[in-house]
Amino acid sequence: MTLHQLLNEGTNSLLRAGAPEAQLDARRLLLEAFHLDTVHFLMNRMQALEQTKAAEAAIRHYRQMIKKRCSRIPLQHILGNQDFMGLTFKVNKHVLIPRQDTETLVELVLEEQKDRKKKVLDLCTGSGCIAVSLAVLGGYEDVTAVDLSLEALNVASENAGRLLDGERSIRFLAGDLFEPLNDEKFDIITANPPYIPTEVIKGLQPEVRDFEPVMALDGDKDGLGFYRRIAGEADKRLNPGGCIYLEIGHDQGEAVSSLLEEAGFKNVKIIKDAPGLDRVVRGEGGRHV
Ligand code: GLN
Repeated sequence: MTLHQLLNEGTNSLLRAGAPEAQLDARRLLLEAFHLDTVHFLMNRMQALEQTKAAEAAIRHYRQMIKKRCSRIPLQHILGNQDFMGLTFKVNKHVLIPRQDTETLVELVLEEQKDRKKKVLDLCTGSGCIAVSLAVLGGYEDVTAVDLSLEALNVASENAGRLLDGERSIRFLAGDLFEPLNDEKFDIITANPPYIPTEVIKGLQPEVRDFEPVMALDGDKDGLGFYRRIAGEADKRLNPGGCIYLEIGHDQGEAVSSLLEEAGFKNVKIIKDAPGLDRVVRGEGGRHV
């Protein structure tokens, strides 16, 4: 038995189960089971595996993980993590798995907001990927993150604890959008709220539909429910010159821009993600002093 044979075996099982990215996922799980990096896998893949207890255990573990993936459990739930902005975030069924799309939002904030003293608020924080990346990579000293789900906040605070150096922390608050904040104001508000129209959810791929938290996806009938609520209140929550950054679905640019403009935001712009789709809307607010 060689690693190459195991890779083919796993890839074929995944293909039969209709899982996307079959070969990539099989390889990732093989590396995980054998604690290998890509270079060592490529160097050793044609050699017969030694018949040791450790190798047998690794093969068993690999086959178990392939079986889970065949039932369309997301790769990230099997591995327990997902990389985002070069950082490794713990994930589980209580949080949306960080998407590369969301890096567009983080990169935009890092580019536009260089002052580390600015107060940041991240709504619908989930795994904490936006809040933690901003604190780690942008060095913002005052970051608050809110989520309705206590289970999500547990994951987010674990990620913050692991990824931030000892002296710094993020304030995590449980509640519905701005509700746990009293009358506090911020300089930067970020959010990747649920934005999938309710009816669309049942047509999503099984990995998302059956395993990711519906409360992180469901944006109400037209997908815009959270943007309406956020736009309605955000301006009052911003200091003069404050900015809001919202992740959006690829077809929501016009609608979300209009919501922000109607709420009095200026310089509202739509920013595209790496594949060229509308992904972020940003606007400047903070008129209410
Ligand atoms: N981008 C996610 C998806 O396509 C949805 C994220 C969200 O609703 N905020 O599954």
